[in-house]
Amino acid sequence: MAGASFDLVVIGSGPGGYVAAIRAAQLGMKVACVERYPTLGGTCLNVGCIPSKALLDSSEHFDLARHGFAQHGIRATVELDLPAMMKRKDGVVRDLTRGIEGLFRKHGIERVTGTGSIAGPGAVAVANGGETRTLETSRILIATGSKPTALPGVAFDGRRIVHSTDALALPEVPKRLVVVGAGAIGLELGSVWRRLGSEVLVLEYLDRITPGMDAGSAKLLHRALERQGMKFRFGVSARGARVEGDVVHVDVAPAAGGDATVETCDVLLVAVGRRPFTEGLGLEAAGVRTDARGRIDVDDHWRTNVTGIWAIGDVISGPMLAHKAEEEGVACVERMNGMAGHVAYGSIPNVVYTWPEFASVGLTEEDARAAGREVAVGTFPFLANGRAKAMGEKDGQVKIVADATTDRILGAHIVGPRASDLVAELVLAIELGASAEDVARTVHAHPTLPEAVKEAALAVARRALHA
Ligand SMILES: Cc1cc2nc3c(=O)[nH]c(=O)nc-3n(C[C@H](O)[C@H](O)[C@H](O)COP(=O)(O)OP(=O)(O)OC[C@H]3O[C@@H](n4cnc5c(N)ncnc54)[C@H](O)[C@@H]3O)c2cc1C
Repeated sequence: MAGASFDLVVIGSGPGGYVAAIRAAQLGMKVACVERYPTLGGTCLNVGCIPSKALLDSSEHFDLARHGFAQHGIRATVELDLPAMMKRKDGVVRDLTRGIEGLFRKHGIERVTGTGSIAGPGAVAVANGGETRTLETSRILIATGSKPTALPGVAFDGRRIVHSTDALALPEVPKRLVVVGAGAIGLELGSVWRRLGSEVLVLEYLDRITPGMDAGSAKLLHRALERQGMKFRFGVSARGARVEGDVVHVDVAPAAGGDATVETCDVLLVAVGRRPFTEGLGLEAAGVRTDARGRIDVDDHWRTNVTGIWAIGDVISGPMLAHKAEEEGVACVERMNGMAGHVAYGSIPNVVYTWPEFASVGLTEEDARAAGREVAVGTFPFLANGRAKAMGEKDGQVKIVADATTDRILGAHIVGPRASDLVAELVLAIELGASAEDVARTVHAHPTLPEAVKEAALAVARRALHA
């Protein structure tokens, strides 16, 4: 096939890659985006953020209908139709991935299907079904994302011992599900199957859930999940697993060392993190440097050590989040065009979409104190928020961490209903350098959940009105 000349070839069409391609086209670049899968959107749209949230929303409705309607005076007999729930999820994914196809057409971005590799300076080879096409380009942007990490001694079989992709499409509700890893993915998918009827046991190496997030807030979520019937074992690791008939036997050993005990289940979900995906890209031959964890090394402008090659998203360092990848995509392409693209790494929100949700931005109280800062902390419980009460939501709180001297907001940690939406106000507050007083004096509509944010900001100065 004849070669083509592009200003930019993006390898990978996840939220990093496809957003970078759109921004580049907006800036007048001739862009191609190479994707090895038949659909666009990467992990996030196909097997990550979107299908998991579709199932979380559906299973929340199911759970509410079964256990929450009665308190509202509604009697209902409810039955699960899992194939229909899965079909709806697949429909959501299909619509959104097709939406990106439409955006590519609108912006004149050439979509090239196949596996891309760096064929030399300014050349990307795309292999597809025995054919190879070479794209000539002034710039290459690597946005190849990440893959689930496996545990030593625990081999995935796609049916009984699974990673997140398989856990989004189980053909039936497992009677007993063991989840390894109490991070966002493990807790979200554990919640989905718990609500649909599984007994769920979460195994975690550390002594807490959501490692790295605010410890006090994590405790609130932990308690709420336990009340929903999720069970936890902390300070343990899964050393091995084997399938015998329809049963998975999991060897669970104390993290500190000692004898293993055996847990049995129908499905074992390993959710211990993700690793950067660079296989087959030809990084070594191209001389592109990676770090000890296999992440591509980049500088402040997302340039690799090889001129003409950039990298963004899960394949570089930093939190593995879709919005982080998107922001990097935009800023990186703007830098290529001599603009001042920038990512506010200090105010990237992080959300665990359980119910209640757990959303966090900026410094945790522990991190702020460990960094030697004097902090003032304000909290406000949803129990005292009128709208939460009307909704029947009792769990959680808003916690704001501010600098004790300047009152500038350093971090915010929300466990509660729609925490994912509530945190946006505090992301903006941090981005704009706002003080707790600024948020406290902002008028919030009544009765709304965001009033809990205002009250927590008031509580920083010990003057909450409703607690
Ligand atoms: C179950 C689950 C739930 C998640 N939920 C959330 C969430 O709620 N919020 C959030 O922010 N993040 C979430 N994430 C993380 C999020 O999906 C990732 O951070 C995000 O997708 C990273 O974007 P990316 O563009 O860097 O890479 P990816 O989305 O991984 O995309 C990379 C793309 O590159 C393609 N590719 C790789 N190599 C090649 C090659 N050589 N040639 C051609 N194509 C190639 C891949 O096929 C893939 O399509 C979730 C992840 C999982 C697994």
